[in-house]
Amino acid sequence: MPDFPIWPQCNIGCVFCSNPVDGYRETTDKYSYDELRRKLLDYKRGLRTFVKFDEVRDYFNLTGGEPTLHPEFLKVLALIRTEFPSNLIRLLTNGRMLADEGFARRTCGIAGLPFEIAVPMFGGTPAAHEATSRSPGSFEQTTRGLRHLRRHRRDGQKVEIRIIMTRVQEKFLDGLIDHLLAEFSWVDRVVFLFEELEGFAEKYRDRLVFTQSEAARAIDRNFDKLAGFKDVRLYHFALCAVPTRLWPRVWRTLADFKVTWLDGCRTSCLYRAQCVGVHRSYLRHAGAPDIAPIAAPRPVELSGDPYRPILSADAETSARR
Ligand code: SF4
Repeated sequence: MPDFPIWPQCNIGCVFCSNPVDGYRETTDKYSYDELRRKLLDYKRGLRTFVKFDEVRDYFNLTGGEPTLHPEFLKVLALIRTEFPSNLIRLLTNGRMLADEGFARRTCGIAGLPFEIAVPMFGGTPAAHEATSRSPGSFEQTTRGLRHLRRHRRDGQKVEIRIIMTRVQEKFLDGLIDHLLAEFSWVDRVVFLFEELEGFAEKYRDRLVFTQSEAARAIDRNFDKLAGFKDVRLYHFALCAVPTRLWPRVWRTLADFKVTWLDGCRTSCLYRAQCVGVHRSYLRHAGAPDIAPIAAPRPVELSGDPYRPILSADAETSARR
C-alpha cells in the first residue's frame, strides 16, 4: 500500500492529529481530481509517487485531512477502483460525511471489493467524544455514519473502529468500550493505536505524552470485554510494554522509517524479530521509559506471520505478566 492523501482539510480538530502543520491545510490545489489522477497513473506505471509504504503495492490507504471532504471524492474513488480493480482500498475517515445516508450508500457502491472503512471513535457520549474531536455534533454524525455503513455496505466490505490511545482517551476508554459493545459489536474489527506525536499533536505534547505501558494497562483492564468483539488489534505497541496475554492482538504495522531500536533491543531482547520496534516520536517526546529487553521466554506460540507474529498466549500464565 501507499498512503494516498486525498484532501488536506479536515472537519474535526483532533488533539492527536499527526498531519503536518506548516500550511498543509491550505494545499488544496495539489489535490484536484486531475492532480490525483496524474499521481495515480504515474504510480500504476511504476513511478514512485507516495512517501509512506510506497513499496507495498496491493492496497491503498485513503487519508487526508479528511478524504471524504474532497469535492469530487466519489469520482476519485471510482477512478481508483477502475485503475486498480483488485487492490484493497481502505478509507480512513472520521465518518461525519457518512451521516448523509445517500453519500454512505454511494461510497459503498462505488468502492466495490475489496474495501474497508476505518472510523475513529473517542468516547461513548457526545461530551467524551468531542473532548478529542473538538467539533460539536461530531459524535452524533459519526454514530449515524456507522449505522449507515452497517445498512449499506456490500457483502465482504469491512468496517473497523479505531481508538487512538492518548492520555485524553484513557479517561474515557472504559465508557467507550461499553458503548461500542452495546451498539457496534457488529463491526469487523476494533483497533487500538498508540498515538504518534507528530505534526499538530506536537503542539499539545504536554497534554498527550503518555507511555505505551499506561495505554496497554488501560486496554488490559478491559481484557474480558474485548472478547465481545469479532477482532481486536493493537497497532504501534512494542511487545515489552504490553501484558503478555494481549500479545496475540499486537500487530507489526509501522513503516521502517518511523521505527528505531534501543541498544537492549539489538543485543538482548528475545522478541526483537516479533516486535514492531520503538516509534521515533515515542523516543523523542516520551523518552520510551518502558522499553526494556525481554530476557526470559514468555508463554506464547509464534505464528511466523510478520504482521501478526504471536499466535496465542497461555491465558493462565500470561495473565500474571
Ligand atoms: S526491547 Fe525492543 S525489541 Fe524487545 S520488545 Fe521492547 S521494543 Fe521490542
